[in-house]
Amino acid sequence: MEMCQEEGATLQRGMNFRFKGGTSIILMSLRRGAPYEDRIEDNGKVLIYEGHDLPRIANGPNPKTLDQPRYLTNGKPTQNGLFFEAAMRAERGDGPPELVKVYEKIHAGVWAFDGKFKLVGAQEEISNGRNVFKFRLELTEDQSVVGKTLEPELPHSRLIPSSVKLEVWKRDGGKCVLCHSNKNLHFDHDIPYSLGGSSLTAKNVRLLCARHNLQKHDKIE
Ligand SMILES: [Zn+2]
Repeated sequence: MEMCQEEGATLQRGMNFRFKGGTSIILMSLRRGAPYEDRIEDNGKVLIYEGHDLPRIANGPNPKTLDQPRYLTNGKPTQNGLFFEAAMRAERGDGPPELVKVYEKIHAGVWAFDGKFKLVGAQEEISNGRNVFKFRLELTEDQSVVGKTLEPELPHSRLIPSSVKLEVWKRDGGKCVLCHSNKNLHFDHDIPYSLGGSSLTAKNVRLLCARHNLQKHDKIE
């Protein structure tokens, strides 16, 4: 299988605060056996994203038995710390919430763009006897393509279940159904939610490249 989205597939780590000085990016997985307990709530509009462990070191303790670190040994924040501080700023109302692009692993080597989210909150909690971070992200209504300055208003959407994404991906051959591009693919609802469309089956979801996805939304508006 080819990679669904180059950006998601080429990132070296799951949490990337202000990646290369730009938008923050996280990778998540809802698959069974995924390393972190990410989950979707509120009808697909909220992502609860778990912070990340210390890296595994040879002959060291299992990172799953240690607190997730907020700081590096040199005192600088880890990715957990950077996202946590941003979430605290949002909770205090010190500026707008951090925008985060989310990619989801739907199959080995296949990452789908899930949309842009707002980082609205975070907390530390005890899980299996250790501290873990939980970040709360809300899907934004702005699902425009990254890098495009004119961002159209789109109907409010929800996340499409992973199993449906995988089915659509396989059926459409990992390509835009209109031009067969395999770059910057989006899962597109044939009928937007606001008009009564359902995402529960693969029937009304299809793969579109960024360009065709935008053109379609222009027409709806
Ligand atoms: Zn296309």
